[in-house]
Order: sequence, then structure tokens, then C-alpha cells
Amino acid sequence: MDRIECVVIGAGVIGLSIARALALEGKEVLIMEAEDTFGSHTSSRNSEVIHAGIYYPKGSLKATLCVAGKKLLYDYCELREIPFKRIGKLILATDESEVETVNKYISKAAENGVNDLIWLNQKKTLELEPEIRCVGAAFSPSTGIIDSHAYMLSLLGDAENAGSIIAYHTSIESIEPDQHGFILNTSGSNAHEIHTKLLINAAGLRACDVANSIKKLDKALIPPSYFAKAHYYSLASRNPFKHLIYPVAHQASLGVHVTVDMGGNARFGPDLDWVPGIDYTFDDSRKALFYEAIRHYWPAANQEQLQPGYTGIRPKISGPGASAADFMIQSAKDHGLRGLVNLFGIESPGLTSSLAIAELVKGLLNRDV
Ligand SMILES: Cc1cc2nc3c(=O)[nH]c(=O)nc-3n(C[C@H](O)[C@H](O)[C@H](O)COP(=O)(O)OP(=O)(O)OC[C@H]3O[C@@H](n4cnc5c(N)ncnc54)[C@H](O)[C@@H]3O)c2cc1C
Repeated sequence: MDRIECVVIGAGVIGLSIARALALEGKEVLIMEAEDTFGSHTSSRNSEVIHAGIYYPKGSLKATLCVAGKKLLYDYCELREIPFKRIGKLILATDESEVETVNKYISKAAENGVNDLIWLNQKKTLELEPEIRCVGAAFSPSTGIIDSHAYMLSLLGDAENAGSIIAYHTSIESIEPDQHGFILNTSGSNAHEIHTKLLINAAGLRACDVANSIKKLDKALIPPSYFAKAHYYSLASRNPFKHLIYPVAHQASLGVHVTVDMGGNARFGPDLDWVPGIDYTFDDSRKALFYEAIRHYWPAANQEQLQPGYTGIRPKISGPGASAADFMIQSAKDHGLRGLVNLFGIESPGLTSSLAIAELVKGLLNRDV
């Protein structure tokens, strides 16, 4: 049986951030990833936006980790020369009835310590984005975009330089706590038994399944798991936008918005479709719905210029009709198993929050050793 100090399950942006943080403080870390490369699920199927921390309830993990993570992420990108841009974001009031909601975002952001949002009247908004239809907008200057692949590659590089090992094609099948930590049984090309003192479940869409495979873990603590699929269309013609453009948010998502990638290309998304499992097939029949949503704030939109882009799936722990749940990060003080941290429901703003989540998890584990 192999023995290792610490196992991180999942090489998405969350697992990689945590592995890096633990390796940098001298821990021996093994990252186990079911796929043949890192970041092939949610971490490479998102909007790549560095969120400011506007929408989330005051004091929630989403609010505090997003605001702390944003600063850590911008600093890290500068230090490591990861491609990023602070391009700013406009949240549009497309008619007078949305002005109050948009102004509430400005005060909600301030409650979260994000004090740089300003209200722009129609004239000022159109000076920034002439093709937009709106009566005004909130402008968030600290929202940005990032090359998430370059970011993950850098996290992995840091972790490996500090001695971490990554095992691909390795899926955790069962976990049994014993007096020294946890005995893991893996399947795939690296199938064997491993003993670890510390165990971090950062399996994203599969985190609830992994938790359910942990013997002696109180299953009543594991939240239900839901999948909310998202489609993105890319714009085939020239991108007329210089900023991220968001409509007002809906209950479970931020609405079909305009994001700009590091190459300057525009894409539209995400929509929201509750699905029973992980299936990234693109449903092009949604084009008309996208066109309607986009045309609402960009009258010059042309349906022919919308090209199927990609899909992603939100790892939800609250279902249809319920308000969005907070991140759920459980450690020994919650479940009583020393050395175990489970991360559930790490949807948006997980990418932005990743370095702050890693610091939090490091602190939780250090209380256990
Ligand atoms: C549509 C969409 C848009 C988003 N936009 C943004 C945004 O603009 N800004 C932002 O900050 N956040 C955004 N997010 C959120 C962000 O993408 C996620 O919070 C983040 O990527 C989650 O990373 P993760 O490492 O937890 O999960 P994942 O990236 O899914 O990684 C989990 C890994 O675990 C592996 N795994 C699963 N089960 C096992 C097993 N049994 N054994 C071994 N390995 C296993 C998987 O193969 C996978 O690689 C968005 C999310 C979605 C879905």
C-alpha cells in the first residue's frame, strides 16, 4: 500500500489551487484526476470572468471568497504573467423598470466591500458601448477576464515544482477512514490502494458522489446534487464590445451576457437548462432564444452571426426554483472526520475565488494536524 501525506481529488481549478497551497507549505501532495488532463470539466467550460463580488449575499462564502480571491488572482496573474485584462463590466438597465434593480447591485456590492461601482446614465453608457440599448448601467471597473487554461497550467507548475505529483486516469472509487487517515481505492490505469492522512474532495460535478463513497461519513451532511447546463454562442462577426455586458440577473444565473475572450472575440451565454447528468452536447435549437435575449440589449444582433460555441455544467446543490446556494466547504468541525475537506457546489464565482478557497482549506486542514 502506498502512503502519502495528502491527496487532492480532482484537477480542476479548485483542486489545483488547493494542491499548490498545500505543496507550497511543504506538504507531500498527490493529485488524482479521472481524466487524461487537468481542467477538462467545469474549469474549462465557463465565462473566464474575474468577478468583482457584486451579487452574493453579504457574509456568504461566495461574497467573501470572491472579493478576497479577486485580489489574490489579479496579483498572481501579474506575478506569473498569466494573460488577463481588467476590462470592466456594464450591468444594463434596459428600461426604467430595471433601474432600481441595477442600483441595488451598486449597494449590494458596497455591502460586500466592492466600492468602485458607479451608475452611468444613458449618454455615458453609450459613450462606452455605442451599440447597446439601455437607459443606464452600473459600471464595475474591477471585473476582468483571464486565460483560465494558462492559469491552471501555472498552478499545476507551482504545485509540481514544490514536489506534488499528478496521477491522470485515476478515479476514486471508495474511501475508508482508519485511525491514520483514509484508505483510497482507485480505478483506471493507476488502480491501487493508497493511504493518506489528509484528503480533499474537489471533484466538482462529482463531489457529492465522491463524498457518498466515504464510509463513516454522515450521509445526511451531503447536499443533493443538480446539474444546470449552460450554452455559449460565439459571434462570427467583428466584436463591437469593449466591455463585458450583463443584463440583470435571474434566480439561478447571471443571464445571457456578453463576454470577451483574451483574443478579443465576443461570446454570448450562459443560458440555463437543468439536466439529469453530465452531457456537453450542444443543443443548437436554443439559438432563437439566445437571439431574443441578446437583441433585447443589442438591437443590431444578427442571428446568422451566432455560432455554436461550447457548453458547461454548473455543479448546483440547490435545485430548480430554489435560490442559489452558497459554496459548501465541510471539514472535521462539520463531519467529525479529521483531515477531510469536502467542497460542494463550487459554481460561479469559483474560478475567481480559487486562491482564497485554497487558503481557507489550508487553514481548515492545519487545525486537524
Ligand atoms: C457556465 C459556467 C460559467 C462560469 N463562469 C465563471 C466565471 O466567469 N467566473 C468564475 O469565477 N467562475 C465561473 N464559473 C465557476 C467555475 O468555473 C467553477 O467554480 C470552477 O471551475 C470549479 O472548479 P472545480 O475544480 O471545483 O471543478 P472541475 O473543473 O469540474 O474539476 C473537478 C475535477 O474532478 C475530477 N473528478 C471528478 N470525479 C473524480 C473522481 N472520482 N476521481 C478523480 N477525479 C475526479 C474531474 O474529472 C474534474 O477534472 C462558471 C461555471 C459554469 C458552469
